[in-house]
Amino acid sequence: MGLFDFQLDLFRIKKEEKKKDVSSEFSSKSLVAFRYSPRLKKSIRCSYKGLFGQPEVTLPSYLSGDEFVLAREIAAEWALCAHKRKTAKNKGQIKALLERFWSIVDQELADQGQKTLDSRGRFPPIKPKGTYYDLNQVLAAVNETYFSGELDCRITWSCRYGGLSFHSIRKDPITEEQVHVISISRGYDAANCPLYAIAGVVYHECLHIKIPVEIKSGRRIVHSREFKRCEKKYIYYDEWMNWHKTVLPKNLRSFRFRK
Ligand SMILES: [Zn+2]
Repeated sequence: MGLFDFQLDLFRIKKEEKKKDVSSEFSSKSLVAFRYSPRLKKSIRCSYKGLFGQPEVTLPSYLSGDEFVLAREIAAEWALCAHKRKTAKNKGQIKALLERFWSIVDQELADQGQKTLDSRGRFPPIKPKGTYYDLNQVLAAVNETYFSGELDCRITWSCRYGGLSFHSIRKDPITEEQVHVISISRGYDAANCPLYAIAGVVYHECLHIKIPVEIKSGRRIVHSREFKRCEKKYIYYDEWMNWHKTVLPKNLRSFRFRK
């Protein structure tokens, strides 16, 4: 077999794999059926008029694509759960499934570069690519230099323009594992922002992962002495602080004049 045949073969295998597409009408794991309505935007509905009384879930039309297959399976689980007796445990599960469903939808929309739905309280959509900085690159450099590459977290530009930078622990909607999420203020995604400033704020938020909140006589101490000591290890600490205090507020103010 020549090299050319081999390449052809690879190509054919790939093509066949692609053909195996997913159904947008039925769940692949249960007997739940899906219908679509262009009138639905931020809600889903369920009825039990399907085949043998199986649930039929009505979803917004934009969820009919293959990329939403995982979200649809969660919606199917939700419908099966909602059909059961409403015990406290069951109610909790129904709520958790719905939250997971909308988080996955939001993340998918964000990945496609589309506007996400109102996502308060849910897992934030992760958007690391800004106009001037790719936060993944900044994080990789900070992680390598100051944490020997050991930090495990996700990073995103904040959803709101006036938003501040913060660190939080969330539950991943897909794996359900706890993950650290760093959100950076959009005021840093600017032409007038030097690399030392963006790296400074990323380093600060990374430190929150390394040095958890201290509880002293009932009080939460977020920026403990230890935290502040470590923060000053950043070589451009003074330059960053100066930028943070003088330029960032102006950048944030200028956002107010955007629509
Ligand atoms: Zn902090």
